[in-house]
Amino acid sequence: MTPAIAMTIGGSDSSGGAGIQADLKTFTSMKVYGCSAISCVTAQNTKGVSRVDALSPEALSAQISAVLTDLPVAALKTGMLLNVGLIEATAAALAALTIPKLIDPVMVSRAGSVLLEPSAIAAYRLLLPQAELLTPNLHEAQLLSGVTIEAATDLEGAVEQAAQRLLELGSAAVLVKGGGRPELRGRDYLLQRHAPGQWLSHAPISTTHTHGSGCTLGAAITAQRALGLSLQEAVIEAKRYVEGGLRSALAIGAGHGPLCHWH
Ligand code: PLP
Repeated sequence: MTPAIAMTIGGSDSSGGAGIQADLKTFTSMKVYGCSAISCVTAQNTKGVSRVDALSPEALSAQISAVLTDLPVAALKTGMLLNVGLIEATAAALAALTIPKLIDPVMVSRAGSVLLEPSAIAAYRLLLPQAELLTPNLHEAQLLSGVTIEAATDLEGAVEQAAQRLLELGSAAVLVKGGGRPELRGRDYLLQRHAPGQWLSHAPISTTHTHGSGCTLGAAITAQRALGLSLQEAVIEAKRYVEGGLRSALAIGAGHGPLCHWH
């Protein structure tokens, strides 16, 4: 049996709820074989991030190259890339690859830890032209697009405007994740080039155990693309998966627990 293969490039979360670990758990539960390249190692639990150690850009490039020169990866995602050197190394290593690539421009954890050095935000412009889908949350969409979202009176209008700007930076599609604001909980805005934008919703689930929900959504989309679904179908299926993971989220640890992957 030859399984579909998906790859994740990002940071390790020692608590297992976000980052590389969340991505690999998601791939496995969707019956997709997962492989990875680690950009940095976080010391982290459900209460927050206590330390971040970056690998060298060369170490990241070597992992990506080792995987891609051997395994037939069908789709990939990037997550926490921390600094300019790691973003540049990723952009260079992936430039010639034509498979679906999802870019999750991870910047700050829910608890406020910096997962991307502020000086590295501009470097994302290198990666965006390679993206089939960019998946920013509201904060990331605001910083990458320059459109004021978080203080906007018309929140939905601001999201739609930011998504349009982000397409102009080169990504073929954008999914702005609304979850950070109660009024947009469960609602994400998908804009693909040459198609009208659409708000996709699942039931708003009230839980504090949401650690890794953004990573899980991106990994689920990547897994479904590796399995051959269209981008829109993959997003819908991934939202269903995240909804199930949130409904049965795990109250482990003293802080924000992770999603459940065997619901
Ligand atoms: N740690 C790593 C390695 C991540 O990639 C992310 C998010 O992408 C987080 C932590 C933050 O997770 P959350 O904000 O869901 O707690």
